[in-house]
Amino acid sequence: MPLLEITGLKSHYGRIEALHGLDVAVEAGELVALVGANGAGKTTLLRCISGVQPVSAGRLRFEGRDITRARADRRVKAGICQVPEGRQVFGPLSVLDNLRLGAFRRKGADPAADLQRMYDLFPVLADKRHQPAGTLSGGQQQMLAIARALMADPRLLLLDEPSMGLAPLLVAEIFAVIQQLKGQGVTIFLVEQNAHAALSIADRGYVMETGRVVLSDSGQALVENPRVREAYLGL
Ligand code: ATP
Repeated sequence: MPLLEITGLKSHYGRIEALHGLDVAVEAGELVALVGANGAGKTTLLRCISGVQPVSAGRLRFEGRDITRARADRRVKAGICQVPEGRQVFGPLSVLDNLRLGAFRRKGADPAADLQRMYDLFPVLADKRHQPAGTLSGGQQQMLAIARALMADPRLLLLDEPSMGLAPLLVAEIFAVIQQLKGQGVTIFLVEQNAHAALSIADRGYVMETGRVVLSDSGQALVENPRVREAYLGL
């Protein structure tokens, strides 16, 4: 049974159908990438998964339970945690307080051990732990946003364009961290316009065009697929 199973998903903005019946699955422990051009519907799909966008047809199941109509906060409690596009850390609060906020729902967790794990993953956050988050660079804020989500110990981590707007060196760093997280057993659904980097580290990938999944295969097979290479990798 997949951790997340989406079947026949449709979603509308007013009368306009943005998703035309998607089938997507994520198994526990997998790193799955979703790629596609601007406007393909990637963000809409993520919003349907996190429960902030109404579903007009189809089903979402998480750990076998139907969550199609579940409220967003129930999904968070169930362990679905989204890192939104554009970071959204709490600028006036320190790095440390941002991380602590990520853990606020957890009971019985050991915050010191979790903090140490985040500082090991992102050493720059340890150096800057007492600085206001708003003073960090864009790349550091992205790292903080991911670390804050991880403090909640998610069962499924949804990443929306984590490499957006970052310098190439930082992009490489973010993807290295995502790969490291997968190695630690975190289940990740990664939405990216940076198709090559995302598919290269993914177990499996989906390619979306105008509200449909048009291809799905292993990450490696998609990187080698001539159609993907031409349309998305500029090769
Ligand atoms: P991007 O990478 O630019 O975020 P995307 O693949 O995430 O693109 P979506 O943002 O999900 O694509 O958009 C899918 C379709 O839905 C597009 O045609 C877009 O114009 C439309 N759309 C998105 N948000 C709205 C909205 N609030 N109202 C109306 N239409 C919308």
